[in-house]
Amino acid sequence: MASTHHKLIILGGGPAGLTAGLYAARSRMDHLLIEKGAEGGQVLLTDWIDNYPGFTDGISGFDLADKMAAHARRFDMNSMFGNVVSIDLSKPVKQLTLEDGASLSCDTLIICSGAHPRPLGIPGEKEFIGKGVSYCGTCDAPFYRNQHVAVVGGGNTAVQEAEHLTKFADKVTLIHRRDELRATKILQERAFDNPKIDFIWDSHVKEITGKDGVEQLQILNNEGKYSTLDVDGIFILIGVLPNNEMLPLEDLEADEGGFIPTDTETRTAVAGVMAAGDIRSKEVRQIINAAGEGATAVLAAEDYLTNLS
Ligand code: NAP
Repeated sequence: MASTHHKLIILGGGPAGLTAGLYAARSRMDHLLIEKGAEGGQVLLTDWIDNYPGFTDGISGFDLADKMAAHARRFDMNSMFGNVVSIDLSKPVKQLTLEDGASLSCDTLIICSGAHPRPLGIPGEKEFIGKGVSYCGTCDAPFYRNQHVAVVGGGNTAVQEAEHLTKFADKVTLIHRRDELRATKILQERAFDNPKIDFIWDSHVKEITGKDGVEQLQILNNEGKYSTLDVDGIFILIGVLPNNEMLPLEDLEADEGGFIPTDTETRTAVAGVMAAGDIRSKEVRQIINAAGEGATAVLAAEDYLTNLS
């Protein structure tokens, strides 16, 4: 099968990829953005976004993703849907292979493949996915009208989604492994003020049990005491893992967690390859910095191409 070549390929269509697409399209570079699912990435898992500048009243995750894609398309962003299964970065021309066997090549690559929710890895978790175990409050909250659900985690996602769940559920119990939340203060304040949210501190969920769906959680506290909590569902929101299965991690000098280190200009260890958004090795994963990194990555790509010619 013949390989199609582009000067720039952008892998992934979340906020980093769509911003890279916008910048590449506006600078009239020969480019292609490849997305395997829905444009927007993890933004689509977020009910409401209150901290993206310019949207004074906030915006839904769906609408923000839609606007980002429409914005890039206004400048003729070139994109396709496809699942990249392997990437060869051993030569100056980078080779990408898609699931259907098609191959693509590029001079410069921006990796924006993002991340996905981390599982707890406990008995009952896999068994009850879709039957009470969820990784997305925004997607599944309406199924729990007038019910009792648990949320596991203490970060921004867990606390924000716990609040969203109270629009449907009667009661939300947030279970955290420490006695202090990691989430930003304004989200904490809202959760503490919400009468529908209660907290189980210093505790781990060890098992999810039930017959046809989730019925109980077996919880172990840090003093070694077990207890059982009756719930109708559990939302596991304990951080993210990198979408890196198609990447040559050794060449990219991936960190321990499988995320890709870069310099300040988003350049990775491989010449002509940039990484932007949640796949980057970093502390802060916000939509705004993913978008910023997407822009930086295109400028770094332009710089690389100029020096190449
Ligand atoms: P996170 O910030 O990494 O927090 C993960 C939470 O899960 C932590 O509270 C952690 O506990 C807990 N945890 C991790 N592994 C666990 C395990 N095995 N068992 C039990 N608990 C576990 O992840 P996140 O909340 O998904 O957020 C990801 C990124 O997106 C962050 O950078 C976040 O700021 C960003 N984000 C921002 C917003 C916003 O600005 N509105 C909204 C959502 C997400 P410890 O605290 O003890 O480590």
